[in-house]
Amino acid sequence: MLQQIHKWLTKPVFKYTCPICREPGSQLICENCQSMLPQIKQSCFQCGLPLKQTTGMQAMRCGQCLQKSPHFDLSITPYHYAPPINQFITRLKFNNRLYYANILAELLIKQLNKNSEQLPECIIPVPLHPSRLRHRGFNQALEIARPVAKQYRIKLDPFCCSRVIATSPQMSQDKLARKNNIKNAFKVKPGFNYKDIAIVDDVMTTGHTVNELARVLRANGARRIQVWAAARS
Ligand SMILES: [Zn+2]
Ligand SMILES: [Zn+2]
Repeated sequence: MLQQIHKWLTKPVFKYTCPICREPGSQLICENCQSMLPQIKQSCFQCGLPLKQTTGMQAMRCGQCLQKSPHFDLSITPYHYAPPINQFITRLKFNNRLYYANILAELLIKQLNKNSEQLPECIIPVPLHPSRLRHRGFNQALEIARPVAKQYRIKLDPFCCSRVIATSPQMSQDKLARKNNIKNAFKVKPGFNYKDIAIVDDVMTTGHTVNELARVLRANGARRIQVWAAARS
């Protein structure tokens, strides 16, 4: 009897079910599946664009950033927008599975832990236009930013700026249309006074959205801006 109780008491209790292999485990994603995620090996340090050649050199910039520097200083985007990461993002955004915000945040935190960059004073999730927010019910960028801010005890401020122009979904347009689409889409609220910021988004596609937000933040006094996104396409 005692032996049985002992066995029962010492039996590992698994907190999570891995969303990829469905095995129970002590981490959100099991170690085996984590090792198979589509990690970006080398990317442009400024915009996060995956670079084809891996030179082993740190602080590489892509041709686009060399030609025209974005309004942000650096990007931390650990994964390709590929399975299963893109599926996590789809489930979060379109199936309201908020659990996936925690997973994406945890993956982002893992990458940030490896990074030696100074942490910002404030995290700003890319705002959604009120009409999109009403439709979706939540801002996926804010849901990803929440556990990250908590982890590092950084102030999270989703209210200091807003999206004033409702833009159509970026995925379905050509490059030029996307760029014009986002122009002047953001405004900061009166009293904005952050100098060192991390913008958080779920996925960075062309970078036009975060670049436009960064432009506005910089015009309002921000001096150092990083972009943190779980995925980069
Ligand atoms: Zn797994
Ligand atoms: Zn770049």
